[in-house]
Amino acid sequence: MIIVLKKGAREKEIQEITERLSEKGFKVHLSQGVEKTIIGAVGDRSRLKELDLEALSWVEKVVPILAPYKLVSREFHPTDTVIKIGQHEIGGSQVHVMAGPCSVESRSQILETAHAVKAAGATFLRGGAFKPRTSPYAFQGLGEEGLKLLAEAREETGLAVVTEVVDVRDVELVASYTDILQIGARNMQNFNLLKEVAKTDKPIMLKRGPSATLEEWMLAAEYILDGGNTQVMFCERGIRTFENYTRNTLDLSMVPALHSLSHLPVIVDPSHGTGRWELVAPMAKAALAAGADGLIIEVHPQPEKALSDGKQSLTLPNFQKMMTELSQIANVLGRPLKGGEQ
Ligand code: PEP
Ligand code: MN
Repeated sequence: MIIVLKKGAREKEIQEITERLSEKGFKVHLSQGVEKTIIGAVGDRSRLKELDLEALSWVEKVVPILAPYKLVSREFHPTDTVIKIGQHEIGGSQVHVMAGPCSVESRSQILETAHAVKAAGATFLRGGAFKPRTSPYAFQGLGEEGLKLLAEAREETGLAVVTEVVDVRDVELVASYTDILQIGARNMQNFNLLKEVAKTDKPIMLKRGPSATLEEWMLAAEYILDGGNTQVMFCERGIRTFENYTRNTLDLSMVPALHSLSHLPVIVDPSHGTGRWELVAPMAKAALAAGADGLIIEVHPQPEKALSDGKQSLTLPNFQKMMTELSQIANVLGRPLKGGEQ
């Protein structure tokens, strides 16, 4: 349910409504835009009638949100959410490219990659320190040592960092090193992990589960918003279909679909979305054209030697080449690349 207040509603009036709602057991979320104040009330709808809020002179209307997700919906928050990270804004007028290796492997690997992606115009460094691997025998990541190397690369280059957290027990540790906490595809419906990251003050990048529907994905985001963290961005990274030429099927239709249903930014990952490096640049371009707010790209100085996801990783020169092409497209679309102006 959303309660839309008339323009110019005063603090005292907003408070009266939130108090009344809380008394009836509703969880109240306030969305204060420049134009309008909207109060989101989640709870037993039948009890709303008793409150008769429409009778209040400062209430414009009371509207039920029929979709199962509430706080992530556009109805609740009509304007785009812009996530501020240092001097960067995700979901604003500029597009961001996050780039780096699948896994942090060594000091020289992460530093060399960080300097190269920064020079090419990336604003965020990606790199996994805790890796969710299909096989228990595959490289599992460097753990805290990897986080320290990411922090060193941030210090040297000024790039912000995005890295994955896979375990509830590591949330505090990973949050202390990173600028964005990544929830991987395999953990999209790990509800305890979602509740835990909701308690942090870090922005969350929520990847789409390999077989998740749009609604399931939005409900996963709803867990994080309901838990008190409104800084969430979606990341489309492909889903499993019958097609096996590509690793996953990158579902770019989710970009405009999410933008119409939700106020949260949308990032696209063409690396996991295709599993083939030669398809990454074309799909990255298509993602920008579809309206993506950012891209996350795997890059490695020597993909053939990578400990994970080498086949889908761009070499440093190929990343640079892609960035030049993307920058031209971004300019035509009227949303320049954030790092492109340097
Ligand atoms: C990754 O970003 O390296 C990763 C494991 O991605 P996903 O969770 O989308 O598979
Ligand atoms: Mn990977």
